[in-house]
Amino acid sequence: MTDLLVASRNQKKLAELRRVLDDAGVSGLRLLSLDDVEEFPEAPETGATFEENALAKARDAYAASGLAAVADDSGLAVDALNGMPGVLSARWAGAHGDDVANLELLLGQLRDVPDDRRGASFVSACALVSSAGETVVRGEWSGHIAHAPRGDGGFGYDPIFVPIGSDRSAGELSPAEKDAASHRGRALGLLLPALRAST
Ligand code: IMP
Repeated sequence: MTDLLVASRNQKKLAELRRVLDDAGVSGLRLLSLDDVEEFPEAPETGATFEENALAKARDAYAASGLAAVADDSGLAVDALNGMPGVLSARWAGAHGDDVANLELLLGQLRDVPDDRRGASFVSACALVSSAGETVVRGEWSGHIAHAPRGDGGFGYDPIFVPIGSDRSAGELSPAEKDAASHRGRALGLLLPALRAST
């Protein structure tokens, strides 16, 4: 068994990676979260891109623990806002992680934007850093921003994001449906070869 440190305290992210690894038949990796290792100072996310932030988190986690480390950074890029909120998605309304305020602010900003210009994509960058080197991948999930929230599944901007080809919002999808299509699911899938190599 090889230990893999997931640079997060979010058990949902650990569970999602576990499902991706199990589905791909990757055994031999024991997933640890930041709560399972000795505490180290966590730098604020100041990168200009998702990739920079993911890589910085994975590097810090690897340097502090000596364990192979995986980290992700994600957010929503809205066409009519020139790609914002982007790396600022978690704190778009000011306070970090206030999902309802973030979503309401975005809806207000897009109030008068017509349907044909409401395109948006969720983006996830995932980084793996170990003694074998560094790998960074990116997954995207395209769709559009609805006019009002729908569904209470998922988190963050899910209730106002309608994936391409769907008539339901991401907040109305089951966890399995979301995993199969989502930006993070795709990015983790792209990271599989590097993860396999680290077992
Ligand atoms: P992170 O945890 O620093 O990567 O921040 C991601 C932020 O982007 C979250 O606070 C959400 O606002 C948004 N976000 C990222 N992925 C998703 C998703 O799958 N659904 C809804 N919102 C998301």
